[in-house]
Amino acid sequence: MATRDDLLQELGLLPQWRLRSHAGLGAAAVAPRVAADAANPATVATNPAAVAAGAIADAASAAAVADPPADRVQAPGRLDGPAEQEARRNRIAALEWPAFAADVDACTACKLCKTRNRSVPGVGDTHAQWLFVGEAPGGEEDAKGEPFVGQAGRLLDNMLAALGIARGDRVYIANVLKCRPPGNRTPEPQEVDACLPYLDRQIALIRPGLIVALGKSAATALLQVDATIASLRGRVHRYRDVPLVVTYHPAYLLRNLPDKSKAWEDLLLARRTVGDRSSPE
Ligand code: URA
Repeated sequence: MATRDDLLQELGLLPQWRLRSHAGLGAAAVAPRVAADAANPATVATNPAAVAAGAIADAASAAAVADPPADRVQAPGRLDGPAEQEARRNRIAALEWPAFAADVDACTACKLCKTRNRSVPGVGDTHAQWLFVGEAPGGEEDAKGEPFVGQAGRLLDNMLAALGIARGDRVYIANVLKCRPPGNRTPEPQEVDACLPYLDRQIALIRPGLIVALGKSAATALLQVDATIASLRGRVHRYRDVPLVVTYHPAYLLRNLPDKSKAWEDLLLARRTVGDRSSPE
């Protein structure tokens, strides 16, 4: 099991960066330092216990749910007219967890259904206090049906662990898109529009205490603004009535080491916002 120092090392925050106390944490409580080797895949520590513990793969429930009626399935990659789109949004807005993953899996509302191997609905505690939202599944996620299981996911797990939380334990992880864009390209606006009702429904079902938007796609989709991460981070936004903090995507952090220190500031802001005092020193 990785120690807190291992995790902070992985985040590039040792030796100077530490959680000093649970009260009064803030940007002033930390000082930036970047570990030169943190982007080396070989140095990215995994945290299998944290990943395994309590992780609830929503996809697992898919098998238990009957196929959707044939009349619900559209021609692949095509949304029907406004009335059908409205009906679809309403149907998704009424989904409950047992049917959720199967519905995502049967979705043909955009062309990504033609190239995905597996849909990736989300994973974690369905009553989570923390909801982390990324952009879209990558190759490993597309193969496994679970979000953030690749290298960026390992960094995300370490970020969670540094906060004293773990995948499946008060945390739910989802993406804006539930299917992989080919070649991991940036999601197209119509793909985001087609998929957002699912994320909306997840947020309504989970009712998290805080949303952490990981990267520009998640932040701009949820906040419905076109803005940079740099301009959005550092303050608390709202998605409907849920506080939302913006930070860099873990995949970006793996390539841009100096910004890890900013991401840590964002996580501390998130932690203050969620009012979580339960994690260890
Ligand atoms: N990047 C994301 O945004 N989501 C994943 O699930 C994996 C990588």
